[in-house]
Amino acid sequence: MLEKFRDRQIAQRIVRKIHEEAKGFEELRFMHVCGTHEDTVTRAGIRSLLPENVKIMSGPGCPVCITPVEDIVKMMEIMKQAYEEGERIILTTFGDMYRIPTPRGSFADLKSEGYDVRVVYSIYDAYKIAKENPDKLVVHFSPGFETTTAPAAGMLNAVVEEGLENFKIYSVHRLTPPAVEALVKGGTRFHGLIDPGHVSTIIGVKGWVHITEKYGIPQVVAGFEPVDMLLAILLLIKMVKKGEAKILNEYTRAVKWEGNVKAQELIDKFFEVKDAKWRALGIIPESGLELRREWRELEIRTYYDPEVPKLPDLEKGCLCGAILRGLALPPQCPHFGKTCTPRHPIGPCMVSYEGTCSIFYKYGALF
Ligand code: SF4
Ligand code: SF4
Repeated sequence: MLEKFRDRQIAQRIVRKIHEEAKGFEELRFMHVCGTHEDTVTRAGIRSLLPENVKIMSGPGCPVCITPVEDIVKMMEIMKQAYEEGERIILTTFGDMYRIPTPRGSFADLKSEGYDVRVVYSIYDAYKIAKENPDKLVVHFSPGFETTTAPAAGMLNAVVEEGLENFKIYSVHRLTPPAVEALVKGGTRFHGLIDPGHVSTIIGVKGWVHITEKYGIPQVVAGFEPVDMLLAILLLIKMVKKGEAKILNEYTRAVKWEGNVKAQELIDKFFEVKDAKWRALGIIPESGLELRREWRELEIRTYYDPEVPKLPDLEKGCLCGAILRGLALPPQCPHFGKTCTPRHPIGPCMVSYEGTCSIFYKYGALF
C-alpha cells in the first residue's frame, strides 16, 4: 500500500501539476512543523523539484530543539543536589536530548563527571530500569509533543497501578498547535500549513481546525512519504488559488477527525495545560503540559527544585530561533556546515535527529 506513496511516476505527475497550479503567484510559502516531514522533504529533494515561487519552511518541529536550557540545567542540578544528599538517581533520556548543548554543558557532560545517565529509546525502557533497580530513584527526562506524551501518560498509568515508587519524570512536554498560533501572532507569514501526521493521529484533524477558523489558514494533515508531502503541497496551492481556507486530511490511512480519544483521555488524566517556555521562542501561552496536582508525586521537581539562573538560549550567531520560526533555513546560517556540524554542534537544531540543521547536513549532498 505504501508503494504508491513512494512511486516516482506518481510523484512526477504531482510535481507537474504543482508547477501548473503555482503559475502566476509571486510567492507561496508553506510551513510544516514536524521533524519527520523535514526529513522527507530534504531526503527526497522536494524543494529542488518545486517551482521557484513555492517555498517550504520548517517551523518548530523538533521537541528536543525547543526544550528550554533552564530545564536541562535544572535536571543536572537535581542530580548533583540529590547526590550530595545521599540519593542515587539514574537519569534516563533520549539520545538526542543527551547531547543538547547548554551554557552549563549537556547530559553527556554530566555522565562524564560520573553521574548515572542512561540513553533510552522509550519511556518504557526507563520504567524497566526502575523495576530492575528498586533501591535507586529513576528519573526520566521526558520531552516531546503529543506523540510522545501519549505513551508517557500510558506508562505513568502503569506506574500508578503497580505502585512503583522509584520512578519519576521531569516533564517538558509541549503542545504543537499553540506554537503554530504563537508564530502566526508573532508575524510569521505563510499561505498554508502542513500538519504533522503523528501528532494528528493523537489530536485528530479537529485539533487543528481552530487555526483555519481563527486565522483563515488552509491546512492539510499529511503523511510521511514523498507523495504525501507533494499531495499536501498541491492541495494547499489549489485552496489558495480558489481563495478557500479549509482543513483537509491527506493522511486518512492513519488520522481520524477525532484522533485517538483513548490517548487524549490518558493525557488529560495526568497532565494539565500551562503556559510554557520554548527554547528560542519564549513563553507560549497554554503550550506546556505539567502533571496535575493529584499526580505531583510522579514529578521529580516536587522533591528537588533548585534555583537556576536565566541563561542565554543560543550561542552567538546561531540562527535556530529564526529556523524554528520558519523565517530561515540552515544554509542561511554562517556557521552551517563550517563551524557547526553534528560532531561539533553549536545549536540544538544541529544536535537533534529531528532538528532542521542536522537533517539538512545529513542530506547535504542534495543541495
Ligand atoms: S513527534 Fe511525530 S509528528 Fe511530531 S515532530 Fe516528531 S515526527 Fe513529527
Ligand atoms: S547551523 Fe548550527 S549555529 Fe547555525 S542555526 Fe543551525 S544549529 Fe544554530
